[in-house]
Amino acid sequence: MKFDVVIVGSGLAGLSVALHLAATRKVAIVSKRALLDGASSWAQGGIAAVLDSSDSHAQHVADTLEAGAGLCDEAATRHIVESSRGAIEWLIEQGVPFTRDEGAELGFHLTREGGHSQRRIIHALDATGHAVQKTLEQKVRTHPNISLFERHCAIDLIMSDKLGEKSRHPRAQPHCLGLYVQDVASGKVLTFAAQQTVLATGGAGKVYLYTTNPDTSTGDGIAMAWRAGCRIANMEFIQFHPTCLYHPYAKSFLITEAIRGEGGLLILPPEAGSAAGQRFMLAHDERAELAPRDVVARAIDFEMKKRGLDYVHLDISHKSPAFLQEHFPTILARCLELGIDITREPIPIVPAAHYTCGGIVTDILGRTDRPGLYAVGEAACTGLHGANRLASNSLLECLVLGQAAAQDIQKQPQQALPDIPAWDESRVTNADEEVVIAHNWDELRRFMWNYVGIVRTTKRLERAQHRISLLKEEIDEYYRNFRITRDLLELRNLVDVASLIVNSALSRHESRGLHFSRDYPDTLPKALPTVLSRTRRESR
Ligand SMILES: Cc1cc2nc3c(=O)[nH]c(=O)nc-3n(C[C@H](O)[C@H](O)[C@H](O)COP(=O)(O)OP(=O)(O)OC[C@H]3O[C@@H](n4cnc5c(N)ncnc54)[C@H](O)[C@@H]3O)c2cc1C
Repeated sequence: MKFDVVIVGSGLAGLSVALHLAATRKVAIVSKRALLDGASSWAQGGIAAVLDSSDSHAQHVADTLEAGAGLCDEAATRHIVESSRGAIEWLIEQGVPFTRDEGAELGFHLTREGGHSQRRIIHALDATGHAVQKTLEQKVRTHPNISLFERHCAIDLIMSDKLGEKSRHPRAQPHCLGLYVQDVASGKVLTFAAQQTVLATGGAGKVYLYTTNPDTSTGDGIAMAWRAGCRIANMEFIQFHPTCLYHPYAKSFLITEAIRGEGGLLILPPEAGSAAGQRFMLAHDERAELAPRDVVARAIDFEMKKRGLDYVHLDISHKSPAFLQEHFPTILARCLELGIDITREPIPIVPAAHYTCGGIVTDILGRTDRPGLYAVGEAACTGLHGANRLASNSLLECLVLGQAAAQDIQKQPQQALPDIPAWDESRVTNADEEVVIAHNWDELRRFMWNYVGIVRTTKRLERAQHRISLLKEEIDEYYRNFRITRDLLELRNLVDVASLIVNSALSRHESRGLHFSRDYPDTLPKALPTVLSRTRRESR
């Protein structure tokens, strides 16, 4: 199949690129589950933007740089913040039902979140991502220039050097010609040839046992770009949310930080023996439960590891049932479904991987190292998030970079596409033991949680590195010899991403932002990004 542009991913990043391009280009969107499956639909809080005259670009930039612990790219940050109003106006034009406030300058209600010095978060009640995605979904489903391929999983990029094609670019770099994609239902592999390919595949939270991310967040785009020779930066900076529900039947259910804001206390569970029921945050930080997200996540991790606990308790039962019903109706209802009555008992919680700050290195137009290949959204690393993401800046980045990439793509000349060989379908045998794939998924996520989690040591990282190399051998053998499945493809990508996280963490000899090493607890005077490339480790 031939398209002007093929976009992998239908989160906010992918849909933004598609809608900005569709007036002039034939676009395909490839999405490995249903269109709205992805982190974007799950976003609750909102989108950060400078929308009121009491706020300023300078303040939003300063807040972002402060959160990023010296590692943000200041020029990229300024560009994204300065484009924020235009990006929100575009969403309003599309018809997103943001919560209104007639007294506000723009007519919409703005909230404030941790790390922001101003009210600047535009939102649609507490389900902003869903409102945005639902609105954009209608547009892409009805656009004549957009073809949708749901339940189609991208496997790998097709690069000119692998086809023996001479580079059409002056600097003779391999360029991207499209990609191979598996139709999940039939198992058939299709070839998509395109002038430009956009990776908008989201983050990689699923590499950890506990995550707030949806099943789609398996780092596929990051792994594909890495295999195609792109640089990948800052992968050691994984943001952990301190409070995710711990329950065998609840996958990835976030317990909002507002519970702590309203007086929720963190206490040790019965398994802590004589310490059961003790509040522990005061021993870690004088701000106790109201300390910043990363401090609270680290403290919980410390208590769990020290005492061999699987979880800790978050208790808000001292508030009246009426108060809890009014402020936290969704959490109250979801916990009750699982047999936890938060008006009478504490909530079992664990910290969980929430956001991948690093990713595929791009400029502010979304261009990667490979001509013909763009990356946008959580899969990319523009330099906005540095060593720690400021809340609600990620959806903003999807919007601004989505538009910028589309504009740059429109400037590129159209070229004749070469014939691309079809996927080698000779691997027709099903894996002898499918269960091995499930075991490897589980093993990887568990040791990443235990050895490469919130608090790191060189010894634990090396232990993880060793296990990754064993897993990689086994998975590569499966990939070479057996019929591929989505589970296998995702596992292959997760192992590549795990390796990038561990290698980045090992090469950082300091603690900064979200990366905390017991062996290097100090922060070095000079902040430098970690940039990995397949050919050489360009580091600090
Ligand atoms: C619970 C939660 C709450 C959040 N709240 C906020 C918030 O309030 N504000 C904020 O700014 N950010 C928030 N975030 C972060 C934000 O939602 C994400 O960073 C953002 O949505 C990422 O958008 P994206 O388009 O890059 O990726 P996603 O929305 O994750 O989309 C990725 C897409 O790629 C597809 N895909 C992946 N791999 C393949 C493949 N191999 N083949 C085909 N398709 C593929 C997926 O199916 C999906 O369609 C939150 C995140 C979570 C998990």
